[in-house]
Amino acid sequence: MIVLEMKAVVKPNQVLAIDDAIRTVQFIRNKALRLWMDASREDKIDKYVLNKYCRILAKEYKFADELNSTARQASSERAWAAISRFYDNCKKNIKGKKGFPKFQKNNRSVEYKQSGWKLSDNRKKITFTDKKGIGILSLKGTRDLNFYPIDSFKRVRLVRRANGYYVQFCISVDIRSYSKPLEPTKHCVGIDVGLKVFYADSDGKTVEIPQYYRQAEKLLNRLNQRKSKKFKKGQKPSNNYKRARQQYARKHLRVSRQRKGFVQREALRVIQSNDLVAYEDLNVKGLAKSKLAKSVNDAAWSTFRQWLEYFAFKYGKATVAVPPHNTSQNCSNCGEKVKKSLSTRTHRCPHCLYEEDRDINAAINILKLGLSTVGHTGSKAFESEILSTLAIANGGEDASTLVGVILSEQVSSVNQESPSILRNKV
Ligand SMILES: [Zn+2]
Repeated sequence: MIVLEMKAVVKPNQVLAIDDAIRTVQFIRNKALRLWMDASREDKIDKYVLNKYCRILAKEYKFADELNSTARQASSERAWAAISRFYDNCKKNIKGKKGFPKFQKNNRSVEYKQSGWKLSDNRKKITFTDKKGIGILSLKGTRDLNFYPIDSFKRVRLVRRANGYYVQFCISVDIRSYSKPLEPTKHCVGIDVGLKVFYADSDGKTVEIPQYYRQAEKLLNRLNQRKSKKFKKGQKPSNNYKRARQQYARKHLRVSRQRKGFVQREALRVIQSNDLVAYEDLNVKGLAKSKLAKSVNDAAWSTFRQWLEYFAFKYGKATVAVPPHNTSQNCSNCGEKVKKSLSTRTHRCPHCLYEEDRDINAAINILKLGLSTVGHTGSKAFESEILSTLAIANGGEDASTLVGVILSEQVSSVNQESPSILRNKV
């Protein structure tokens, strides 16, 4: 599944119609949630009950009837998603809050399935055909929708952002059929999230956090403060407040796009130059509190990981998430544990006298862990195959080259795990 997004050209009367559709989605979602909340235990509210409820709402409220029936369904599915997430959290007995579903106040999108919209012949325009009266929207952007068969367009979403309206197309295609797997580079890498740098890798390279990250952060804070100053509690929002809020939202959108661009480019570069990428399986929630607090945007790291997994899947490379366990404490040279505090930037081993940057030492440990994990995922037969390959190739071949060759054969099996994560991404 891929998502293509294009900006829509909208006229003032269309803005009203789109906003009305977006409000209706929120209304249906919240109504469905209310139905679940008020139900008794015997009522057995599930996805299908909520789906049927949409039809009842459409009979009762004219504005709900005006919205396309698949869009109504998608709205009640949103309520069900929130409910089932809550059930899941309870079942898994996660610590802290379980995320009891809340009523939504700031919905920004409406989603259609395979009806209620129609693309023009050249696919540069889209018409929304339900009774909301949105009409024809021209699509801006360089993406060519003609590239994909029309029946692979599974969903169409209209999204409101700080600087206008966007149309998203969710297209169900195997991303691998639109790209060739890359040639093996015969190289593997481990990467560690840095405290001061974006990440350090096992080759001894570090990648800095771009300067505009910090600059943008400062500016965003300032705009946010200005916004708060204009806010008067209990009063109708003033025009000054609205303007400040708009400014903040626009800047925020720009910064988040810059970040995404940086993270995406980095991830692609890493995947292009390696056959296997190992990184720590970090719990980002806990991370924000400790290691990464204020240094790197923790969200940047988790999107980085998602992009790594996405590109690895697309280009036939392997990714391994290893359990974060003493990766920064252990010596990557001799394996002894060398205790150090967060402020100690250099790893100095008293046992083997090995010295290396703290993050790079960790990255090497991560790569080692990653390689040992991968080695154990294969079947017995596969393992013996590796061993015999090793024996044959052991005529003075560089060990890392060898690993690269074996891994490229194994890629398909490792990547079996990726699609679940991928689904969250695209
Ligand atoms: Zn050592």
